[in-house]
Amino acid sequence: MSTFLDDLNEAQRAPVLHKEGPLMVIAGAGSGKTRVLTYRIAHLMEQGVDSFNILALTFTNKAAREMKKRIAAIAGNSETKNLWMGTFHSVFARLLRYEGDKMGYPSNFTIYDTQDSQRLIASLIKEMGLDKDIYKYKQIQNRISSYKNSLITVKAYFQNPELVEADAMAKRPRLGEIYQNYVDRCFKAGAMDFDDLLLKTNELLTRFPEVLMKYQERFKYILVDEYQDTNHSQYLIVKALSDRYQNICVVGDDAQSIYSFRGANISNILNFQRDYDDVAVYRLEQNYRSTKNIVNAANSIIEKNKNQLEKVVWTSNEEGPKIKVHRSVTDAEEGRYVASSIFENKMQQQLQNGEFAVLYRTNSQSRAIEDALRKRDIPYRIYGGLSFYQRKEIKDVLAYLRLVVNPKDEEALKRVINFPTRGIGQTTIDKLVVAANHFGRSIFEVMENLDKLQLKINSGTQRKLEDFVTMIKSFQIMNEGADAFALAEHVAKKTGLLLEFKKDGTPEGIARMENIEELLNGIKDFVEGQKELADATGSLTEFLEDVALATDMDKDTGDDDRVALMTIHLAKGLEFPYVYIVGMEEDLFPSAMSMNTRSELEEERRLFYVALTRAEKQAYLTYTQNRYRWGKLIDAEPSRFLEEIDEKYLENLIPVNDGYRYKSLIDADIFGEVDKSKLRQMKPVKGTPPSFHRPNENQLRKLRKLKPQISSPAENTNVINPNLAEGSLVNHTRFGRGKVLKIEGTGNDKKAEIQFEKGDVKKLLLRFAKLELL
Ligand code: ATP
Ligand code: MG
Repeated sequence: MSTFLDDLNEAQRAPVLHKEGPLMVIAGAGSGKTRVLTYRIAHLMEQGVDSFNILALTFTNKAAREMKKRIAAIAGNSETKNLWMGTFHSVFARLLRYEGDKMGYPSNFTIYDTQDSQRLIASLIKEMGLDKDIYKYKQIQNRISSYKNSLITVKAYFQNPELVEADAMAKRPRLGEIYQNYVDRCFKAGAMDFDDLLLKTNELLTRFPEVLMKYQERFKYILVDEYQDTNHSQYLIVKALSDRYQNICVVGDDAQSIYSFRGANISNILNFQRDYDDVAVYRLEQNYRSTKNIVNAANSIIEKNKNQLEKVVWTSNEEGPKIKVHRSVTDAEEGRYVASSIFENKMQQQLQNGEFAVLYRTNSQSRAIEDALRKRDIPYRIYGGLSFYQRKEIKDVLAYLRLVVNPKDEEALKRVINFPTRGIGQTTIDKLVVAANHFGRSIFEVMENLDKLQLKINSGTQRKLEDFVTMIKSFQIMNEGADAFALAEHVAKKTGLLLEFKKDGTPEGIARMENIEELLNGIKDFVEGQKELADATGSLTEFLEDVALATDMDKDTGDDDRVALMTIHLAKGLEFPYVYIVGMEEDLFPSAMSMNTRSELEEERRLFYVALTRAEKQAYLTYTQNRYRWGKLIDAEPSRFLEEIDEKYLENLIPVNDGYRYKSLIDADIFGEVDKSKLRQMKPVKGTPPSFHRPNENQLRKLRKLKPQISSPAENTNVINPNLAEGSLVNHTRFGRGKVLKIEGTGNDKKAEIQFEKGDVKKLLLRFAKLELL
């Protein structure tokens, strides 16, 4: 037996070695589900299964890349390249490029992102003369998206009186018509939106049995990670493709199903045994990720949910520190606490920024954390905010590139036809849109035939339109020979985009120019990378698809060392040594929007379970008494989830009932940032559990006296540090033995440069460094 199987425990090895037929691994967080999936693929390949016959579906493209790396290390690089592996969207976008022509799509179809979809819907609402306050384009886009994910086509919509009536009741009787027009316009533009990638795949597999058969043969082995969060559309695709060979392996955890708002259906995992014959079910129980305290605390939360499969999770990892709970007065102070604590941990234990994550329920919470991290010069990275590819200047360049590949792409065309300004006004564009609708052609086709169409556009404007067409066509000719990078560079210059931002001269303009440069570098990298792949060429089409489906998670190469800031939803499947979960307050987490029914509340609780189980060594839970929300300062109450954790896993730094809060201020005081007057302003919080009561003045006085006894970074200073000199031999708890090369600075700033035997030279702040003199 090959040795890589030794990296698994017995329970994990069983599903990896499982031969043919459907199997499901159902297990709690951190128990190695993703690892099992990865090793099963490697094992299949070792057993002689052709890598072309394996399809693996992951939650992010980044996860797919990491799995591939791992598999390549075991099974060899060249074979691994043939695996089809990625998110549902990226895998099936690729499949649709090969097969979409059967449904009338060009192979270079454009992928509309959410913003494109919204813009198109907004313009349809305008064209149809509807009231935009009733027909809100974002809501409508959402609605259409959920229809598509439930496989409700336009036809199915109109055949379903309930749906039609519901929209009529909601005073939107023409929603179905918008849906119809939206679908028509996307099709005419040679575009698919995100939901189409799944919907059209389903359509393809249902309408064309020979295509279905081809891919059933091709993907003899199908593996799905995070199966608990598949939606109906995804479920049907997997079901159809695996129907012939039934070699389907799904792994998941019902306790981590957190995407129901996007149509994820927990019953897909609950019904798996009913959907396939002779399903082998494997359970994993040992958690390898987290300390005992974290695992047990997480268990104590999730057991409050009624609707879940019975599961055991335990760990043989060390007990670890208790989970720290911190209360602050304002959200700004919460941010400062997190930043101080990260700083302190980093210094005391010589950690990297990348070992920390701050998780929150909603994106808007990141601002206070960001401010505080910036003040402390701690580099961070926000995931899921405005991603690089969503920035205006980047979307401008991409829109030109999209037009080169697919001139029918209406949203791209509208975006850049008059940017940089070339004197083509909105009236002209409206005329073009009307004509395009009238003739059932794309706007670009109308522009190509202006002289024949007599559109009452003055000759000056007509010439400008023709120049635009000529320019795009010249790019198309270039695209036939040049690589994507050369073309993109040419486009950025020739269209005047670079010049436009340069002319601007402001710091923003310069930043935009730099972003375009960064994009060009990215294209270059991409082209080089694609050339290595089995069935890719590095074409512009491939690049645009990659971008359309990229999330900023994917752009993270892990090269730069930063604290990660993201929503809990995005953190699924990831792990970090230190995790801060901020905003543990009622109405925020659990969210006010999700407390109406038991099932909504249970989903919030699963979300909390996901958050806590990301932590390997230490978790922090923070909440504040006052928070700015919707522009107003509101009183906040501690989250019920804090009470739900068994108290023995939480850290009460000072005897409960009082000092808790004060201790945290002392902590902050070490960094000189406590506003003591705040202490006096604190009001008791309504409904606060006894353990969170604020101290009264008397208790405060007592606590002040306690101060020296409270653990602080100063206490960790090793007494021998002052005796260090150049040439001293030392031992460090983490880095091992070393020799002091240099001492610099004085007092709190005193540092030692040390050459460690392991090879590194490090500069350590003596105030914190855990050194022993040898
Ligand atoms: P989640 O539910 O959060 O997605 P998971 O069940 O997919 O978690 P993994 O991410 O596969 O769990 O594993 C968690 C961590 O434990 C990883 O760092 C993994 O490398 C490690 N791990 C898993 N199994 C073993 C093992 N047998 N020996 C050592 N480490 C392991
Ligand atoms: Mg996983």
